[in-house]
Amino acid sequence: MNHEQLWQATLGELELSVPKVHFTTWFRNTFVIEWNEDAVVIAVPNNFTKAWLENKYHKSILRILQNITENQITRVGYKVETNSKKFSPSPEESAAAAASLIAQDQPEHVAVAASAYSAVAGSHPMNPRYTFANYVVGKGNELACAASVRVAKEPGTKYNPLFLYGGVGLGKTHLMLAVGNELLRTAPGLKILYITGEQFTNDYVSSLQSGMVEVFKQKYRTPDLLLVDDIQFIGGKEQTQEQFFHVFNALRDSHKQIVLTSDRPPKAIPALEERLISRFEWGMIADISSPDLETRTAILLSKSKERGIALSDESLRFLATHIQSNVRELEGALNKLLAHCELHGIEPTLDVTREVISSITQSARRGGVSSRELLKTVSEYFDISLDDLTGQSRRKELVVPRQITMYLMREELDASYPTIGHELGGRDHTTAMHAYAKIKRDFDSDERIRQDIGSIRQRLYNG
Ligand code: ADP
Ligand code: MG
Repeated sequence: MNHEQLWQATLGELELSVPKVHFTTWFRNTFVIEWNEDAVVIAVPNNFTKAWLENKYHKSILRILQNITENQITRVGYKVETNSKKFSPSPEESAAAAASLIAQDQPEHVAVAASAYSAVAGSHPMNPRYTFANYVVGKGNELACAASVRVAKEPGTKYNPLFLYGGVGLGKTHLMLAVGNELLRTAPGLKILYITGEQFTNDYVSSLQSGMVEVFKQKYRTPDLLLVDDIQFIGGKEQTQEQFFHVFNALRDSHKQIVLTSDRPPKAIPALEERLISRFEWGMIADISSPDLETRTAILLSKSKERGIALSDESLRFLATHIQSNVRELEGALNKLLAHCELHGIEPTLDVTREVISSITQSARRGGVSSRELLKTVSEYFDISLDDLTGQSRRKELVVPRQITMYLMREELDASYPTIGHELGGRDHTTAMHAYAKIKRDFDSDERIRQDIGSIRQRLYNG
């Protein structure tokens, strides 16, 4: 296990217990710079982050590192490291490292692809690992993928803009960068600019502060392909939207391709100007939804092959069945499993897989949720009263939340069927069994149920 793998496994665990916003804020741009006998030194981008990690997350980090290294680690230090070169990924790096690097490799405002362009910003290229070749197509992303391939074949002609949206960790960034990387390969002269909505905003603000707005404008109006990741970020930021509006028009008028990603469709982005909504809808809008069991299995197969490891069918199946929320978590679980095996020099058999996955899910459950909290969370989520949730009415809008509650009591609390029946207003244990089985079945076929359960779990553990 190398530094990256150690840190990747640690982050994988932290991500389960730290609310997402905090996780991104405090752990992006962190990495392990030293790892010896009993100590680990973690590089952080600034003093502020250093203080936060020391004060708020030190215990968790230490505990997880001890867990992973089997108690060899007794000390963890934090060091401010501003040398961004350290972030540069090399193609040989493991999927784990590369996946984490893409999230952290942009200390500057832009990541620029074409070499002619890098002189302008002197920044990092798009992560070359995200390609169509390693993007697994399934029901949830078919359309998005087909549209992206099309755009990479004929940029600026048909789907302009291409707007991809979907939940976190479902492969939006991957697909967007696949368009960029494909064009980099097939049309090397093309100027490609890849940036996040947040970086665009920051770039504009700092150009205002330094009186360089003209440079800013020029920069965004010259690329042949503009990739803006997480465009929802500009919602509510009027001036930035104004700038983006002009950039958009200039590029589209000259038949330059624009690709945008967002966590929701244009209409649903809070405080996004009407004129931008309508422009985002001009081209092609494609959503990406959670992968079904079959796709999850295929993704795992592809990722493990990429890393030269042959997982047995049972192990693959086990992982795919137990990690359902999104692809990033699936990958995290796989990384953790492989890191564990490498560290101990063992094979990822079904038993080992089971053990590692149960340690992941247990640490996610560490909060020790009670059945009361679960009932309360479900009733709030569905906006129904506790009495209705546990009552006798068979109205459909109550029956499904009730069944989901029973399912979660079993999955999250390990409650027995008689207990579940009892908690749900004195129902028979066979009712609980039936409900559990039904939701378990639906989980794979019903996107809606999957999302509901995912959101409830999130509320349950992240408050
Ligand atoms: P998003 O931008 O939607 O939050 P990402 O594009 O960052 O998600 O994807 C998260 C991780 O999951 C990445 O490592 C990506 O390679 C992987 N991934 C997502 N979807 C797929 C897929 N269909 N095939 C292969 N890998 C995928
Ligand atoms: Mg993304």
